[in-house]
Amino acid sequence: MKDTYQSLCELQPIGRKLFQQFLQASKPQYMATAEFLEDLSDWSFAEDETKEKAKRRILTKFCRLESRGFLSGVTGKDAERCKHLSDKNIDEIVLQWKEYEKQRISDKYFYEFRTLGKGGFGEVCAVQVRHTGHMYACKKLDKRRLKKKRGEKMALLEKQILEKVNSLFIVNLAYAYDNKTHLCLVMDLMNGGDLKFHIYELGERGICMERVVYYSAQITAGILHLHSMDIVYRDMKPENVLLDGKGQCRLSDLGLAMELPKGKMICQKAGTAGYMAPEILRQEYYRMSVDWWALGCSIYEMVAARLPFKDFREKVQNEEVTRRTLEDECRFEHKRFDAPTKDIIRRLLNKSWSIASVVGLVQPPWVPKANVVYAKNVDKFGDTSDVQHIELDAKDEEFFKEFSTGAVPIQWQKEMIDSGVFDELNDCKLNQLTLTSRTC
Ligand code: ADP
Ligand code: MG
Ligand code: MG
Repeated sequence: MKDTYQSLCELQPIGRKLFQQFLQASKPQYMATAEFLEDLSDWSFAEDETKEKAKRRILTKFCRLESRGFLSGVTGKDAERCKHLSDKNIDEIVLQWKEYEKQRISDKYFYEFRTLGKGGFGEVCAVQVRHTGHMYACKKLDKRRLKKKRGEKMALLEKQILEKVNSLFIVNLAYAYDNKTHLCLVMDLMNGGDLKFHIYELGERGICMERVVYYSAQITAGILHLHSMDIVYRDMKPENVLLDGKGQCRLSDLGLAMELPKGKMICQKAGTAGYMAPEILRQEYYRMSVDWWALGCSIYEMVAARLPFKDFREKVQNEEVTRRTLEDECRFEHKRFDAPTKDIIRRLLNKSWSIASVVGLVQPPWVPKANVVYAKNVDKFGDTSDVQHIELDAKDEEFFKEFSTGAVPIQWQKEMIDSGVFDELNDCKLNQLTLTSRTC
């Protein structure tokens, strides 16, 4: 991350807090301006009524002659001056935090708990940061298994894309490190299970319409976030959508995701049978459209507990699924399909869709019980016999180093603040902060 005002004082949670504290302690005359910038940012994220309220608050607080926080120069001069204040004064303190952030991460940093799921290269288990108590999920990738299946590049890409995204609708990465045997991705803990489990393993098959709509909206927001960064997901399917303890869902498993700079198209077969768009199957060039096709298949599956071109547990060759996808009409036989659902699925599967903007501010229609584990029992992922003969060399070590960059700034800083560690340590740092500002 570059050390700009936006990065240091807006995006990175600790920098943002420090900047506020610095102004309070040493530059009270700019507090109103800083408050104005904060309120402005809240307003920009608000919707409908809340947005209107935020606007009125800003007008009363800052724009009336008689108001305490009246800003004569709301035109921008003061705001600019306020931004420039940060340049010299808080850099040093932020740098100390950044040093702390860069500490080497190893297994000792965490307590390990139960296995949550199994992936292609190892298990995913719940972990807890020892000194903050924060819970995460740790996806472990077996180094020798990666080497044997030539998965290194994919693992590195997954890590690099995960650390770039910061969204409420995507599983965020907090740490990437390695130990002797594994590369580890430490991510948001999603303990409500994946949507595939909810479709097929809980009660009556399929998910009720209220939840389908809610999840589809959040998934759409996740996909839009990726697309806004020119990232195509390519693995959209219910199995990769995970629910957290509150019942909100996020996209996970960015192993097939790829950044496509503006104007670049690719022609590469990737994805899961049954969810792949016609343009992939025909080996044509594509960009983001394939994710909307896969979303159409996923919405269909949430409703009907089968795919549009493949029945549940149907023993059918991939070639036949491809043929059906390219040639057959999508049929809606399940009684749960209503007109709007059919309409949205048709639009997504016809690639002539229009997406309403969605923000997940609505209460979840279903909340996981705190004491229930929403995952099938999995056998411990302990069998390493097939990779025993794989030797790791200097080139592998080089790659592991590139992967193990430790803490990811925004997530790490959030954890420090949420757990109270920031406040505890910062009391003494704040004294230094006032000192620094006096000398400059
Ligand atoms: P792979 O890329 O090998 O498919 P995934 O990232 O999909 O691996 O992870 C495998 C399984 O582990 C998932 O299907 C899910 O059950 C579980 N899992 C993955 N990430 C998390 C998470 N952040 N929280 C909880 N469980 C997870
Ligand atoms: Mg997966
Ligand atoms: Mg994957």
